[in-house]
Amino acid sequence: MQQSEVQALANLLKRHRGQATVFTGAGISTESGIPDFRSPGTGLWSHIDPMEYLSVDALYARPHNFWKYFSKVFGPTLDAQPNAGHIALAALENAGYIHTVITQNIDGLHQKAGAKKVLEVHGHLRTVRCNSCGRQYPMKEALAQLPKVPVPRCDDCGHSVRPDVVLFGDMMPPAFTQALQAVEQSQLVLMVGSSLTVSPANTLAFYASHLAIVNRDPTPADGRADVVVHGTAGQVLTAVTEELKL
Ligand SMILES: [Zn+2]
Repeated sequence: MQQSEVQALANLLKRHRGQATVFTGAGISTESGIPDFRSPGTGLWSHIDPMEYLSVDALYARPHNFWKYFSKVFGPTLDAQPNAGHIALAALENAGYIHTVITQNIDGLHQKAGAKKVLEVHGHLRTVRCNSCGRQYPMKEALAQLPKVPVPRCDDCGHSVRPDVVLFGDMMPPAFTQALQAVEQSQLVLMVGSSLTVSPANTLAFYASHLAIVNRDPTPADGRADVVVHGTAGQVLTAVTEELKL
């Protein structure tokens, strides 16, 4: 991370104050102890096929396995705390630099850090809902039913529940359309902690009129960006807020 790049990013945010959208990927949450599932070699998905475990098919065909796995992988995430990157973005929103945070993370850490307008394009871990009556419950309550019962159930009607996250095989939620609209109405899109190789990150980056990238490693979109800063989200975004005297 170079100070000149941090200054360039701060200047870009000043120039487009109130007209900027942020997109965050898994890279912003690794500093909160949440693994980046797509990281080659170390990622969980390097030895497990997510389609097999986190799909609509798995939820209904093998619900016991689905919940066992889901609870093991995402249970610890419920207690994760926001890091300097989430806190800096909330400060930028509060100071009127950015108007929307779009995230593909389901950990809810932007809201825990104080962000107000967050579009969660892959859903979130806060709640589950009943497959029959639609009643919602906190995820913690649902996971607490395990392993006494193989599948968490609705208190009201006794049917099984499902997580409010977007599974493989689900339709994209309304937040996805809202995210596209937010990007189209923005002058600047700041991509944080995303390798920009998969949808929706690469699609949203494509629609940005001005693009800034904060990521540990180079991305395929670096060449098209107005500013690129390589470093951890926590370090870079904290430096940007200091530069803007927030
Ligand atoms: Zn129910």
